[in-house]
Amino acid sequence: MKREKVDVLIIGAGPSGSVAASYLHNAGFSLKVVEKNKFPRFVIGESLIPRCMDHFEAVGLMDCLKAKNFEVKTGARFLQGGKTCEFDFSKKHTEGWDWTWQVPRADFDKTLTDELTKRGVDIAFEKEVTAVEFMNGRSMTTILDKEGSPSQIEADYIIDSSGFGRVLPRLLDLEKPSEIPRHSSIFTHVRDVRRPEGWEGYRITFDIVSRETWFWVIPFSNGYTSIGYVGPTEYLESFEGNSTCRLREMIKLSGHYRDRFEDLPYEFEPRMIKNMAKSAKKLYGDGFVLTGNSAEFLDPVFSSGVAFATESAHLAARMIAQELRGEIVDWEKDYSQYILEGVNVFSSYVKEWYAGNLQKIFFADTENTVIKSQICAVLAGYVWDKTNPFVKNHYRLIGTVAHITDLEKEASAKA
Ligand code: FAD
Repeated sequence: MKREKVDVLIIGAGPSGSVAASYLHNAGFSLKVVEKNKFPRFVIGESLIPRCMDHFEAVGLMDCLKAKNFEVKTGARFLQGGKTCEFDFSKKHTEGWDWTWQVPRADFDKTLTDELTKRGVDIAFEKEVTAVEFMNGRSMTTILDKEGSPSQIEADYIIDSSGFGRVLPRLLDLEKPSEIPRHSSIFTHVRDVRRPEGWEGYRITFDIVSRETWFWVIPFSNGYTSIGYVGPTEYLESFEGNSTCRLREMIKLSGHYRDRFEDLPYEFEPRMIKNMAKSAKKLYGDGFVLTGNSAEFLDPVFSSGVAFATESAHLAARMIAQELRGEIVDWEKDYSQYILEGVNVFSSYVKEWYAGNLQKIFFADTENTVIKSQICAVLAGYVWDKTNPFVKNHYRLIGTVAHITDLEKEASAKA
């Protein structure tokens, strides 16, 4: 059986795997990326948030992405009935990127892997990690090619960036139930032939159909648009027929978008991901670390997935580089606690969203620009900035402000 030896093995070539690979390759370590699929491949997660730009820039992957002219995203719009709440990333509390992209991920992820391949990073496509053993501080990983032939890779470190594949959580019994409600999603792409001219046509929007259900519209620069619906699993399953019939019925529930998307042919049979939220018992161990969705996934409502994937991958790669250079690193404090701090902030926002409190603030009759800029910084992914009260006091502040919003509404109704 073929056997290779590298410093670092990376499982998965999504944004998380690519950012980690770019950092470690630039730092001079030997590495191998093993990717189950052939690229381009479809994956969901198309609305980015500005924080991920910091990571692409830090590892030298920004220029190849800029050259692709993806649709620029400068904020996000939320609709509820006749009300609109629009966030503009240039008006956010925390300094940082005020734009990012809305991207077809097949193209986006392939751009990253093409760039890495060009630089000499060894990416083995259509190879699947099936088993891992740890011994004497090193790991031995078994991979199968598409014909089922096995080979092995010995590595000092494994970065598990396998997304919903969740390779190490499965193999090492690290799966943990998430605290986030059981939500599912159904989605596809359409050729957006009725796209209106100008801003309305390209504006990324979340149309809030009810407290727990919403519809996304993510227009791409290539003329296609991603549409998807999110809600409690039982509710989504209560729609009859196959996934095409279900999504067609769901679109009718969006007052704003029904006319634009009704009856358009779907580019592929809508896919359904059930009970999306994922969690892990621990994020690292002797000789391995989990990044991106393999570590945690909350909910798509604030588009935080890719930014968490790149944040965790960039940090994990830096810490592995330090450790392999013989420095002492504190994985518990500097990796696990740091990543979970950010996860906890977003987790509060997701929970408060579905509890209805955040929606009260978004759609309040009077807009408070200071509060809005602080929430905007969170939506841009700057969730470690303790000068932001909506980060520092995320457990309590949303509920408190929602309560005040209720009182103000009552008072103005009485006046
Ligand atoms: P991925 O991008 O999933 O990459 C993992 C790679 O690992 C894949 O290419 C896979 O083929 C490979 N792999 C898996 N198993 C193996 C194996 N055994 N061996 C080798 N390779 C393997 N995020 C956003 O930022 N914005 C959004 O708008 C958004 N919307 C979403 C909507 C829905 C419905 C869902 C479910 C998620 C959404 N996300 C969104 C989250 C987003 O999809 C992920 O957070 C993001 O793709 C994670 O990146 P990653 O690099 O960790 O994993």
